[in-house]
This record gives sequence, C-alpha cells and structure tokens, in this order.
Amino acid sequence: MRIRQVRAFPLSLRYDQPQRTSQRAYTMVSICLIRVDTDDGIFGVGECLARFGATAYARLVEDLLRPRLLDRNPLEIGAIWDELRSTLNGRSGGILFEAIAGIDIALWDIKGKAFGRPLYQLFGGYERSRVPVYASSIMVGEDVPSAAERIRSCGFDKIKMKIGESVPTELERIATLRKCVGDDVTIMVDANYIYTEHEALQIADGAAEHRLEWLEEPLNPENRQAYHRLAMRSRVPLAAGESEFTAHDAADLITSRTVDYIQPDVTRHGGISECLRTAVLADIFDVKFAPHVGFSGAICVAASLHLAAAASNTYAVECMTTPSAFREELTAVPFGFYNQVEAGTVSVPQDPGLGIEIDWETVERLGA
Ligand SMILES: [Mg+2]
Repeated sequence: MRIRQVRAFPLSLRYDQPQRTSQRAYTMVSICLIRVDTDDGIFGVGECLARFGATAYARLVEDLLRPRLLDRNPLEIGAIWDELRSTLNGRSGGILFEAIAGIDIALWDIKGKAFGRPLYQLFGGYERSRVPVYASSIMVGEDVPSAAERIRSCGFDKIKMKIGESVPTELERIATLRKCVGDDVTIMVDANYIYTEHEALQIADGAAEHRLEWLEEPLNPENRQAYHRLAMRSRVPLAAGESEFTAHDAADLITSRTVDYIQPDVTRHGGISECLRTAVLADIFDVKFAPHVGFSGAICVAASLHLAAAASNTYAVECMTTPSAFREELTAVPFGFYNQVEAGTVSVPQDPGLGIEIDWETVERLGA
C-alpha cells in the first residue's frame, strides 16, 4: 500500500454564544481536517488543532509535508513521524507538531481500516467498549446552579468549571457548585493559566474543603518552576498537558509528579503515536490519563475515545457540553456527545480505524 494523495481542509465556525474562558471570549474557532488517500482505496482522516489561521496549517501540510508522504507505505507510521519531525531543525513545538498530529491520526485511521479493527484494539490491553467522561464546562461567568442542573440532567457524574475571575469570586463559585451537586459528583476547575503562583495557592487552599478532583492549568504552562513549587504546596492535585506538544514536553510534568492528571490533546500532541507514548510514561509514574478535547472536533473526540479505551491509566475523556458543528455535524453518525452519556460513560466507535464516517458536505460548508 502506498500514499497517493494528502489533502488539508481548513474549517471554521462562528459561535452564536461566545464561549468564555479566562483568556478570551471565543466567537470563532477553526480546525484543519486532513485526508490521506492510498492506492488501494483506503483513506484515513485526521485533525490538526488550529484554533486560528487554519489556512496556514493547510499550506504547511500541503507544501512542506505532503512531498515527504507521497509514495510512502502508510503503515510505517513511526518512520514517517520521525521524517516529518526532522523538517524542523530545533526544539519541538508549535504549528508543525499540530500539523504532524493531523497526519499521524489519518495514518492510524488507515492502519485500523487495513487491519479491519477499531483502533483501540491495536493499541493497548484494555479493550473498553465504553469510557468514562467528564462534562466540560461551566464557563467563566456562567450562572452555576442552572449550568450544574443542565449538565447533571445529561447523566454526568464529573463536572468541570472554568475559573478566571478574582480568587474570592471563584472560591464562592466553587462552594456554590459543590452545594448544587451534593457529595456524589466529582468536580474540577480549569483556570486556563490566568493566575499568579500566589493566587493559585489561595485557590487550592480555599477550595480543598470542597474536594476538587483537580486544579487545571493554574499557571502559565512555560513556568515549570512555579508548577513544581505549587505542586509541593497545593492540597488539590494539579492537572495539565493540553499545552504540551510531545511526550518529551510532558515527561517533565509526569516524572516530577507535578501533575496527577496528564491531559494531552491528540490533535496537538503529535497525534496518536505521541499520545500513546505519553500515556505509557504517565502510567509508569502513577499519573492518570485524561485526554483533552476543548474546542476541537469529532476526529479529536474519536481518537481520544480510542486512546482512553486502550490505556491502563485512563481517568476520563473531556466531553464538551457546549454546541459545536465541528463535533455535531462533521460525522454522519453522532458519537461521544454530551446527550449520549450513560452512567458517566460514552461508547467507543466499533467500526475499523477511527470508526467514523465524515460528512463531506459539512466539510464543504464549513470551509474556511
Ligand atoms: Mg483546559
């Protein structure tokens, strides 16, 4: 089998309601969909995390990476990954790794289809047909009681809330959330790196009595020393990883036990190949695996479900409760949705590869 064509489809959508994190109110987001065709009729799809400027990703894929893919055996994923990575002469990261992620996912989709098995059966030894999910998220500034009620009614037993306003305001919202959901629901918060080290410690101290499962990305992801110090003092476990591009990046957080939960995004973190490495490393150091989805699309969800189904140290996959055509309309059959949750879990696609069927009319309609 040989690769005959590689195409990139930059997609964008506008939100009716802006989605507010601590960093910004998102009114528009984009992704870049990848399609790799082979000479025997099998094709695979992938997705690059490309929040802004998806057309730049498409140019990178088609101009720089496609020539290195044509005529290659798509099953030699490791060798192809290393060659694509070598196009950057220096430290890993950025748009190139998000582009590689999309291609890597598409190659795994091909491999699963070629072997006639759903991807999770090719990965690890835990063949879960359902995986735990957590609801994401109650947004910054959103009314807590009504949002908690809406999310609870979907069947979730784990709920995340975005935080980002003043420490007293957010401690009050955390107390309100705990009161609203009672003792049986797991709650976690995500600061999207808005706080100083001192503020983050105040949040951790003040929220400990409300039994937070984790405090996610309290600090700038590049400030590793502050993360290490915070982890030593915080009474709430830390979670991070969506800002990391490779297993090497994540290794420092994992091996130092700075985080208790590692959250790579498969559409950023070098794709399925690199996420598998990170999940195994995390398992060795007793860190739980919790794949990130955020504003990404259906291919990210599908790949994350397969990874979570196979990893021994899976905690839960992020399940978005906000509307997005990237998740709801990109595939012919919906899966992994917040309204398909049963007892805190969703089912894993069972068809070969990613197990999803792209709706190419939607791809055309959302074209950037
Ligand atoms: Mg986050």
